Amino acid sequence: MVIHHPVSALDAVKLRKELDDSLYLAGGTEVLRLGGPLKETTELIDINGLVPAKIEVMEDGLIRIGALAALQDLIDSPLVPEYLKSACRFCASFEKRNAATIGGNIAARRDDSYLAAALSAANVHFMSTTPHGKELKAVSEYFNTGCRRVIEYFIVDPHCTGYVRRFGITASAHAALIAARVKDRYALSVKGSPLVCGTSPDIWKRAEYRDTVEGSAEYKRYLARTVFELEEAL
Ligand SMILES: Cc1cc2nc3c(=O)[nH]c(=O)nc-3n(C[C@H](O)[C@H](O)[C@H](O)COP(=O)(O)OP(=O)(O)OC[C@H]3O[C@@H](n4cnc5c(N)ncnc54)[C@H](O)[C@@H]3O)c2cc1C
Repeated sequence: MVIHHPVSALDAVKLRKELDDSLYLAGGTEVLRLGGPLKETTELIDINGLVPAKIEVMEDGLIRIGALAALQDLIDSPLVPEYLKSACRFCASFEKRNAATIGGNIAARRDDSYLAAALSAANVHFMSTTPHGKELKAVSEYFNTGCRRVIEYFIVDPHCTGYVRRFGITASAHAALIAARVKDRYALSVKGSPLVCGTSPDIWKRAEYRDTVEGSAEYKRYLARTVFELEEAL
C-alpha cells in the first residue's frame, strides 16, 4: 500500500486529481476497515495535520468544526447543538467515535451515514480546497456527487434545534433509515438510495426505496412516512 504525505490541502487535492485510484486518509475507520473501499492498487493521501481538527466559535457567533474533529469531540464539545451530538451518538462504538472524523463521515457518502441527514437538514455548509482554490459548499449539494475536494471545516449555527431519528435492527447494525428535521428543513438517508432533503416533511414521497438486507422497500417507505407524521403531530 502506498501512503502519500502531501504538505498542504492544495497539494493533497491536486494529487487526488492526478491519481485515479486514490482516497484521503483521515481517521481511517472507513478506508482501512476489512471489506472497505481500499483495493490493493489504491493509494492513500494522508490529510492529517493539513486541515483543522478544532471546534471553535467564529466572530459572527457561528461555530467552525474542523473536518478532522472526531465524532466524540463533537459529543464532548459544549458548542455543538444537541441534534448533531445525537447524530454522532449513532456510532455505537466509543473506539470508532474517537477515530472517525466528521469530514470522513460526509466524504464517505454512505447511504447509512450517521451525520448526512442531520447536516443536510441543518443546511450546513463547509469550506473546502479544490484544485482552483477555496470554496464554500452545502453538504446536501456535495453528498450525492463524486467530487474529490478536501473538506476543511463545517460552519454550524449553534442555536438551531431539531431531531434526528435512526431505525436499525441494533445500534451496531446498518441503519435502514435516518430522518432529520432542523428548523424548517428535512432530510432522509434511506439504505440503498440517494439522500433526499427539502423544506417539507413530504420529502418521504420523493425518496427512492429499495429492498436491502436492512429491510424491504415497503418497510422503509412506512418508516419514512411515519417518522415525519408522528414527529410533526407532537
Ligand atoms: C464496523 C464499522 C461500521 C461502520 N458503520 C458505519 C455506519 O453505519 N454509518 C456510517 O456513517 N459510517 C460507518 N462506518 C464508517 C466510519 O466509521 C465513518 O463513516 C467515519 O466517520 C469515517 O471517518 P474517517 O475519518 O475514519 O474517514 P476515513 O476512513 O479516513 O475516510 C473515509 C472517506 O472520506 C474521505 N475523506 C476523509 N476525510 C476527508 C476530508 N476532510 N475531505 C474530503 N474527503 C475526506 C476519504 O477519501 C474516504 O473516501 C463504519 C465503520 C466500521 C469500521
